[in-house]
Amino acid sequence: MRSHYCGELNATNISQEVTLCGWVHRRRDHGGVIFLDVRDREGVTQVVFDPDRAESFALADSVRNEYVVKLTGKVRARPEGTTNPNMSTGEIEILGLELEVLNAAQTPPFQLDEHQAVGEDVRLKNRFIDLRRPEVQQKLRFRSKVTSVLRRYLDDNGFLDIETPILTRATPEGARDYLVPSRTQQGSFFALPQSPQLFKQLLMVSGFDRYYQIAKCFRDEDLRADRQPEFTQIDIEASFMSEEEIMRMTEEMITGMFKELLSVDLGAFPRMPYSEAMETYGSDKPDLRIPLTIVTVSDLMTEVDFKVFSGPAKDEKGRVAALKVPGGNSLTRKQIDEYTKFVGIYGAKGLAYIKVNDKSNLEEGLQSPIVKFLPIEVRQQLLDRLEAQDGDLIFFGADSIKVVTEALGALRCKVGDDLNLYTCEWAPLWVVDFPMFEETSDGGITAIHHPFTAPSCSAEELKANPLTALSQAYDMVLNGTELGGGSIRIHKGDMQETVFELLNISPEEQEEKFGFLLDALKFGAPPHGGLAFGLDRLVMLMTGSQSIRDVIAFPKTQSATCLLTQAPGEVSEKQLKELHIRVRKPVVE
Ligand code: ASP
Repeated sequence: MRSHYCGELNATNISQEVTLCGWVHRRRDHGGVIFLDVRDREGVTQVVFDPDRAESFALADSVRNEYVVKLTGKVRARPEGTTNPNMSTGEIEILGLELEVLNAAQTPPFQLDEHQAVGEDVRLKNRFIDLRRPEVQQKLRFRSKVTSVLRRYLDDNGFLDIETPILTRATPEGARDYLVPSRTQQGSFFALPQSPQLFKQLLMVSGFDRYYQIAKCFRDEDLRADRQPEFTQIDIEASFMSEEEIMRMTEEMITGMFKELLSVDLGAFPRMPYSEAMETYGSDKPDLRIPLTIVTVSDLMTEVDFKVFSGPAKDEKGRVAALKVPGGNSLTRKQIDEYTKFVGIYGAKGLAYIKVNDKSNLEEGLQSPIVKFLPIEVRQQLLDRLEAQDGDLIFFGADSIKVVTEALGALRCKVGDDLNLYTCEWAPLWVVDFPMFEETSDGGITAIHHPFTAPSCSAEELKANPLTALSQAYDMVLNGTELGGGSIRIHKGDMQETVFELLNISPEEQEEKFGFLLDALKFGAPPHGGLAFGLDRLVMLMTGSQSIRDVIAFPKTQSATCLLTQAPGEVSEKQLKELHIRVRKPVVE
């Protein structure tokens, strides 16, 4: 239908006759001539209709925003003084010769350039219009480039793109399953995959050696900040590759992509053990753009006459730690109060601080409600350990290790962001040496990565010290966001059974849920490992978007619904009957 895209025309097309198809972006009546800005995927071109051609002029006069049109015209240079350097087509315009309305449009619920005036719910409900906005189009086009570059890398390195089932059994990744009732097996349910984890491991057992998939995953979680119930992973698995080899290869893939698409050199990624990440940055995904660190000072506080500090300092499950903010002396009482409220979210009961006005005067140079409790030598040791300078502010956390770590970790990022302390634009790293397990609130243990992750020790050592044993898991982190994570897997049945036992999964349950995996491990499973990148998050970071919803064509809301299609929806009694399901009436209180 068309000879060119609207957005691809420029001065080299002058004098050509072109046919364009697209949407009326804007219509302007300039006393005697009509200007139509016509938009397609590639951009906008200005078309001028003169009254000399009465028929097309009348039509141009009648069209409204978002009408779909086809037009033929002649490209010409814009008259001097009217060129628009902000538009790729800004040097030219089209003299419209013929115009055809392919479809009319009702007045849209919002004008594309006024999208900010309407709430996100209006935009999501009318997503087909929202998606016409050039910014959103660019983000989705960028996303397509990301997958294409990653595919190319993986294809070139011998990875095979293999699909795995969507209707399957539970694949434990720590979330609730989405269930699908079976019509043919009364009372039975499929689960949608939380990840293709077990299938990719089975593909390794089958000898495919290298696998990848751009895979949809489903997790029914209470949607905390910026998550989606269905999301996309670049899922990777390889046999006969060590932890080191997998990390090196995927790092090369990601750095290559950043170079190609953003001309950014991420450099070599530093490695950081999980224990250091937690202790020094208060997070398993530290944002290394922020230069602040958390320093343990428990040993200095055991004997001070201040229970808030000495209590946790003496308790082996407690911790007293400090966060120095260079130049933070200028923070106001009000700002400090706000930070105190902020750390309360993480369970901290207060936020002690010291302002270092004059470090050479330990009697009067330190300004703080708590400094009177600290003997002079403790003040000196504290300032030395933190290398504090005049003008700095020191925040303290004193509580259980967990509360101090989480509160100061979050405060570190908040202060870093508020005071714009970022030292660079991109800060990647690998976090390694994760523990195998962590304690749950009810005293049990749970896998930190997933139950198929190989420990770094023998089965005996694992059984003896499950909570201190390390795993062969690794996470790639960028700017405080986990881009991807993976591990070397257990490839021997007895080790897998040991881990299941430690997780309190009985032999019957093991057989029922994972019998197929345990069987596969008996028939020649090679050593293997892999990882998965979160595509949505990766594209969000690379496009500087605020939310993953901005880089997903049809996202769901925070309450896991689709405003566009109104999913999830009710189904007919007939369908329910076929599925052998009776819906319980909601309990009325
Ligand atoms: N299946 C894991 C996940 O979804 C990734 C991996 O271990 O490869 O987080």
